[in-house]
Amino acid sequence: MKYLRIAMPLSLIMVLSLVWSLAVKQETRATPGNVKLIAPGVWFREGELLDKGHCNNIWIEMKDYLIVVDANFPSGAEACLADIKKTTQKPVKYVFDTHHHGDHAYGNPIWTRLGATTLATVGVAEEMKRYEPKRWQDTAKQRKDVAALNLPTAEPPKQTFKESKFVLEDGTRRVEFHFLGWAHTRGDGFVYLPKEKILCTGDAAVNGPYNYMADGNSANWPKVIERARQFGAVTILPGHGVPGDKQLLNGQAQFFIELRKSVGGAIKSGKKLEDLVTKTGDKVTATTVKLPDSVKNWVKNEPAPAGLPWLGEDVDIVYKEITLGKPYGDIQLMKQ
Ligand SMILES: [Zn+2]
Repeated sequence: MKYLRIAMPLSLIMVLSLVWSLAVKQETRATPGNVKLIAPGVWFREGELLDKGHCNNIWIEMKDYLIVVDANFPSGAEACLADIKKTTQKPVKYVFDTHHHGDHAYGNPIWTRLGATTLATVGVAEEMKRYEPKRWQDTAKQRKDVAALNLPTAEPPKQTFKESKFVLEDGTRRVEFHFLGWAHTRGDGFVYLPKEKILCTGDAAVNGPYNYMADGNSANWPKVIERARQFGAVTILPGHGVPGDKQLLNGQAQFFIELRKSVGGAIKSGKKLEDLVTKTGDKVTATTVKLPDSVKNWVKNEPAPAGLPWLGEDVDIVYKEITLGKPYGDIQLMKQ
């Protein structure tokens, strides 16, 4: 009897936890291009990264208007707009560029011509000044949607904030925009919904092997993530890949810690760059570095299609950061 009293609740708990884990998995598994309701009035759209280069989008309903997180590429903006219209008739008032990269900000003109205000940390506008119009013009040669806008350069955010925090609030919701330091880019912005405990990270946190590091600062990146962890968010909406929980932030930070530990250890033991990576021309084609399984979600061990990062490139970047004592974003500028 005693056994049964314990066994029945235990089996019930097991069944319930199985049901719960299946439900959670379904909840968070977004099919690219599909839209998920994350909380009342908060929608997540996973961008088609592999075939279209799109980022994820989030839209947040306020009483009378919408806030969209990330402008996406122009074609991503159009796809997002079409999906927004399926969920609400409210107008888009603000579009927050989490950073200056094309897959997050080149769609800006699509939104502003509809009357929306593009918003970002001042660092996003500054990054555009550093890297444009060259990147816009290079991208326009490869992407029809960018070329079709027929513009000489990227459109900077219309409104920026210098402080570490900017807030939009009405009677229904509070939305906070934060700058926490240089991780993926010098201008990384986060969006936090304190009541719903939802954090939108842009590419400062991604769910998968999508950590593009060329404008980044890998030593500071985990510190920025640690600051982001302090919000205590329960739902993390990344710039690429499916939504996650706080473990996503832990893993994202740990990836950089392990990467720097591996490459730093190799440098200390006298290894040279050519011992760690093989290059064909400018391209890294192989690496001898292996990272632990605990961070495998963020590791691609073989060369990736153009534009997507992989471990060999990450090793090349971190080797240069450690030996030159600078963030790669600064090293890259020296080459220009
Ligand atoms: Zn991105």
